[in-house]
Amino acid sequence: MASKPSDPETKRRTRRASEPEDTAAETGARAEGKAAGKNETKAAAPKAKTAKAGAKTPTILELPLVALRETVIFPEMIVPLQVGRDKSVAALNAAVAGGGPIALVTQRSPEMEDITDASQLYEIGTLAKIAQVVQLQDGTVRAIVQGQSRLRVTGFNASGPYLVATVEHLADAAPAGVEIQALMRSVQTQIEAYVANGAPVPPEAAVAARNITEPGLLADMIAYSPDMTTEQRQELLETIDVTERLKLVSNFLARQVEILELKGRIQSEVKSEMDKTQREYILREQLKAIQRELGEDDPQQAEINELRDKVEAAGMPEEIKARAIKEVDRMSRIPSASPEVGVIRTYVDWLVGLPWNVSTTDQLDIHEAARILDEDHYGLEKVKERILEYLSVRVLADTIRSPILALVGPPGVGKTSLGKSVARAMGRKFVRMSLGGIHDEAEIRGHRRTYIGALPGRVIQNVKTAGTNNPVFMLDEIDKIGMDFRGDPSSALLEVLDPEQNNTFQDNYLEVPFDLSKVLFIATGNLVDPIPAALRDRMEIIQLPGYTQQEKIEIGRRFLVPKQMENHGLNDKRIEITPEAMVRLVQAYTKEAGVRNLEREIANVMRKVARSVAEGRKRKTVVDVKKLEEYLGQPRWEYGELESEDQTGAATGLVVTEAGGDIVAVEVTKMEGKEDFILTGQLGEVMRESARAALSWIRANAASLGIERELFERNTLHIHVPAGGIPKDGPSAGVTMATAMVSALTGIPVRKDVAMTGEITLRGRVLPIGGLKSKILAAHLSGAGVVILPRKNERDLRDIPEEIRKQIKLVMVDDMTQVLENALRRKPRALAPRPVQLPDRDTSTGSGPATRPSFPPTGLPPVSVQGSKAAPSAGKSERAVNRRATLDRGPAGRTAQGRTGR
Ligand code: ADP
Repeated sequence: MASKPSDPETKRRTRRASEPEDTAAETGARAEGKAAGKNETKAAAPKAKTAKAGAKTPTILELPLVALRETVIFPEMIVPLQVGRDKSVAALNAAVAGGGPIALVTQRSPEMEDITDASQLYEIGTLAKIAQVVQLQDGTVRAIVQGQSRLRVTGFNASGPYLVATVEHLADAAPAGVEIQALMRSVQTQIEAYVANGAPVPPEAAVAARNITEPGLLADMIAYSPDMTTEQRQELLETIDVTERLKLVSNFLARQVEILELKGRIQSEVKSEMDKTQREYILREQLKAIQRELGEDDPQQAEINELRDKVEAAGMPEEIKARAIKEVDRMSRIPSASPEVGVIRTYVDWLVGLPWNVSTTDQLDIHEAARILDEDHYGLEKVKERILEYLSVRVLADTIRSPILALVGPPGVGKTSLGKSVARAMGRKFVRMSLGGIHDEAEIRGHRRTYIGALPGRVIQNVKTAGTNNPVFMLDEIDKIGMDFRGDPSSALLEVLDPEQNNTFQDNYLEVPFDLSKVLFIATGNLVDPIPAALRDRMEIIQLPGYTQQEKIEIGRRFLVPKQMENHGLNDKRIEITPEAMVRLVQAYTKEAGVRNLEREIANVMRKVARSVAEGRKRKTVVDVKKLEEYLGQPRWEYGELESEDQTGAATGLVVTEAGGDIVAVEVTKMEGKEDFILTGQLGEVMRESARAALSWIRANAASLGIERELFERNTLHIHVPAGGIPKDGPSAGVTMATAMVSALTGIPVRKDVAMTGEITLRGRVLPIGGLKSKILAAHLSGAGVVILPRKNERDLRDIPEEIRKQIKLVMVDDMTQVLENALRRKPRALAPRPVQLPDRDTSTGSGPATRPSFPPTGLPPVSVQGSKAAPSAGKSERAVNRRATLDRGPAGRTAQGRTGR
């Protein structure tokens, strides 16, 4: 669409351009209301219709000149101009007065105030028509001008009131041809793209550009873009060649479009990033709303819900469940930061964790139970029988409250393993709890929740560990339970054990009852006496006094050796312990009622063999007596510990300690002094009293025992029970002390192979004692040939194994005389009756010469005969005791178990 100057349209437009007033009025109206910054050009919409005025303009003109700052005016551009400089105002006024155009040329540096030389201006400017001039009050002038054409400044005069320039008019050549048309199209498209990509121009600009047919005008139109700098505009103005000018704007547009596209991309990226964040935010908000709806909006609430579910699932009894729910509700009302929350959580966790409803099904086959007990234990026939009876009753009458089983005996006799077997036989879980050293009732019954870090007592803890509400619950060391200011644990224990109460056992921490009635409690202890009476009352005590050597050998052979063999990764192709070695092991390397040390020594042997196997030994190791000594060293015990000679002033008693039966030597020495007697060896009150009773009996029967009365008056008896570090108490050493005293006083030695036990009364009667089997086992171990026992204990002899009865002579006695008859080397010879010196008024019947009170002794002349008679006796006796003392074995080498004589 070439537009030639010769075509009618062009001519019409040219004519119109020559009517400046019209145009001025029109442009004035257009520019009105537009803010005009100081020397700033605000782009107005291009006036596409305005025709090129070049043809009629004189080529050389002399015109008033206004220097522009930062502004470039293009032909056809209608621009409001704010003019402030005097010379510029004058130039405008001159132009207006002259009615001619004005030259508008941009100055090279915008800061410059006064233009004095042509070089300070660009060479190319614009010839413009003044449409309107308004004088403002501050002395400046606002003019609306319309560019007409390009001009070149050829002359310059700054001397007058305003700048005057000689200018040469520069008309656009009107090029035609395909290239220019293609260029125009391209520029128009670029303008569209420019506008479409968000150029800071009015959207109509693209339409206007489409309508422009003048290629030069089209190029000039780009000068409206605010993206163009003053320099770029000036360059555009100076590009007279239209083709070049189009190429210039094309380059400019291409760059701008690129910038805009990039900007758009960046923006859209930013936006999509923002959209994502927005999306997440919205989703989160929705999630919160959903959680709020479900009551899960905070972690505490979630936890509370979880706890509540757990409570529902725990299968608790109704009232306890209600209690737990109440606690959970309380938790939901407390702020989560409160320490109380943790306390409640732990509490509810405890409630939930207890096996309220979980129990194992009892295996009720008594034959099977018997088989299992036999499988795990050698011997113990009576014990097993009683356990089976007990189980039968429990099985038959589940509701009948049977007493608690208590297995009492020295360590290592199989109490714990019996308990485990019972659990295995019944198919129940097994838990154990040691009561040894428990002083605080809270250990059993728990602390109240008000205490920091409070927990349930050990009973409830163990039930939780068992995970069922009917485990076999072993209470170890029930005889060692203590009692002090912290409360009485045994009464708490009573509540646990008492069948009447334990179905509603109340733990301080739990605060709700737990039913312990299905639990099978088995208590164990070493001694019966220290068990608190109230507890003992509710127990069925089964004694396990210890094993005979034969039994130990059998247990070792059948149970301990195979067990240890397996533990050490050996088998019978690797090791064999000969029967002789086994006997030796029991007799010479262990001394105990149970088999714990035996098991340890067997393990010791196994270790040595295991090592030699590991070191490459291929052949079987046969452990005989010699090898045993090689492995375990010198034998530790000699069979038989009794005195090697008969002793004067010393007798062997039998006691029961925690470690089983034991022998104890009682020593008595007689020395000058006025005291009745001295007792040493950490003896308890009961033992002291038996010593007193024994002495009183001896004094009462001194004559018949051949003891001079004066002996008591001038001598003090010192009674000592060695192993002084160990407290001893109990009445059963009465006969032993009496025998040793008589021996010391009479000088008659005590037979070395006799051991004795029995309580003594003032009248010399011998009363029965407990722990008979343990004592006889101990006597047998120590090599005693004769054991003197109270006749009243005869019925207990059924328990004594036949093998022992064959080796030991058991002498049953009723009174002290019989004891002495059997214990002393010879019978004491009674003193010959001697004349009685009766006090004047004494009407005594004189029942016995030796029983006469000798008080006041000072009143009687010391009878020299008596003194001389007593002296040798005493001297002899003392010598004997002294010798005895040097022969004293002392307690060294004994098992260091605590002893409590009985
Ligand atoms: P306690 O509880 O009486 O101190 P344990 O039950 O711990 O003793 O027994 C110690 C070891 O001796 C265990 O290995 C046990 O199996 C074993 N034992 C004790 N008595 C026998 C027995 N009659 N038959 C087989 N092994 C026994």
